[in-house]
Amino acid sequence: MKQKITGYHLDNENHWVAELKCGHNQHVRHDPPWSIRDWVTTPEGRASRIGIELNCIRCDEAGRAVAAAIIIEAKSQFLASYENAGISGLCEEGRLEAALGSLDSLPLDSILERALKPDPTQN
Ligand SMILES: [Zn+2]
Repeated sequence: MKQKITGYHLDNENHWVAELKCGHNQHVRHDPPWSIRDWVTTPEGRASRIGIELNCIRCDEAGRAVAAAIIIEAKSQFLASYENAGISGLCEEGRLEAALGSLDSLPLDSILERALKPDPTQN
C-alpha cells in the first residue's frame, strides 16, 4: 500500500528511517553498493522527498491479516449456522439461507482488533 513520507529520523545505527503517513516507518538507507539513495544524506535531499509515496509493507501485512481473519471467522460462522439450522429441522435451502444470513452479523470490530493486535515477536 502506497503511503506518503511525512518525516525522518535516525535509528540506533545512524540509518535514516522515513516516517510514513500511516504511522509506520521504513528504512531509506544509503548503503552503496546495495542501496543508492544519496538524497537521504542531506537535509535538502530528505526535504525534497517529503510527500513522495513508498510502498508500506506493514500496511500490506495488516490488510492481509484482516482479510485472512475475516475468512476464518466467516467460514466458522457459516458452518455453525448451517449446522444449527439443520438441527432446527430446516430444509437444505433454509439451512443455506440461514448460514448466508449469519454472515451479515460477523463481529467485524473484534475480528479487526484480534487481527491487528501487535505481534510481540516483531518490533
Ligand atoms: Zn503503513
